[in-house]
Amino acid sequence: MPNASWRRRGGKAQGEGYLPSGAKRRTSEAKVCTSAARKTVGKPLAPRQGRALSQGLVSLTGASRGIGRTIALRLAADGFGVVVNYAGNAAKAEEVVNEITSAGGRALAIQADVANPEDVKQLFEKTLKAFGQIDVVVNNAGIMPLSPISKGDVETFDKVIATNLRGTFLVLSQAAQHVAEGGRIIAFSSSVLAKNFPSYGPYIASKAGVEGLVHVLANELRGHKITVNAIAPGPVGTELFLDGKTEEQIKQISSMAPLERLGQPDDIAGVVSFLAGPDGGWVNAQVLRANGGFA
Ligand code: NDP
Repeated sequence: MPNASWRRRGGKAQGEGYLPSGAKRRTSEAKVCTSAARKTVGKPLAPRQGRALSQGLVSLTGASRGIGRTIALRLAADGFGVVVNYAGNAAKAEEVVNEITSAGGRALAIQADVANPEDVKQLFEKTLKAFGQIDVVVNNAGIMPLSPISKGDVETFDKVIATNLRGTFLVLSQAAQHVAEGGRIIAFSSSVLAKNFPSYGPYIASKAGVEGLVHVLANELRGHKITVNAIAPGPVGTELFLDGKTEEQIKQISSMAPLERLGQPDDIAGVVSFLAGPDGGWVNAQVLRANGGFA
């Protein structure tokens, strides 16, 4: 059961979710939010179909590069407005924003370190101030410095846990309070959990925690028609995966999946688009392993 600082919403008995005391879902505009959210997730792709639609709003962390960048462009093409969060790479984030806006979409870059509670709070406040509503939250930000457990490198461990697990906890917490009814919350795990490669200890520990949080939050949001899922990509050709690896290592890991290639950011952005879009509504409390059969 939730602790005393949590209050039950509304007057319904079974099927209600829980919000922290003081937290407000956007229920005063519930009808507006709900219908808008339904419209958001129920519309076909916008620019892809040559239509300039103004749909829902996605808050996306770690969108300046890598997989997040491609997700931002894909969801903008789907018709969503996108908040492009980044940690330090303002120029790259602005590039993503410019690419979206010059194609007729809506986007805004907001700096926030996902490991910092005040930053994450501000990220959501600024997003709501700019767009009025949040329909989808994608917590994609992550890091993967490797270190064998035997080395006892607690600094690396703490850093990875702070960004990947504490960051997910903070973003999910804000998402739980602010995503409009009918919305979607998507976190990022990794398929490497199933492989247990040496030196991946801190990273795998952090992502195992992410999967736990996703299942619990899906239950906490009972009654709000909000789905909570994680995507667990296999190896994807971004800086996070490629940095520090030899050509030989990259080739060897790429050939592990029966599809015998390295994943590309587009492979993952398509899965996010599915979960955020009209066909993803019945998928809840799941971890989608998008990995070409790697695990
Ligand atoms: P990249 O290293 O390419 O990009 C990481 C992104 O996260 C950047 O936009 C970066 O912002 C942002 N970021 C990093 N730390 C923070 C922070 N503290 N606060 C806010 N933003 C931050 O990584 P990928 O695109 O490869 O990874 C994206 C997600 O996918 C991660 O969660 C990762 O664990 C997961 N994943 C990746 C796989 C892969 O093989 N690539 C496989 C499985 C899962 P900035 O540019 O400002 O530094």
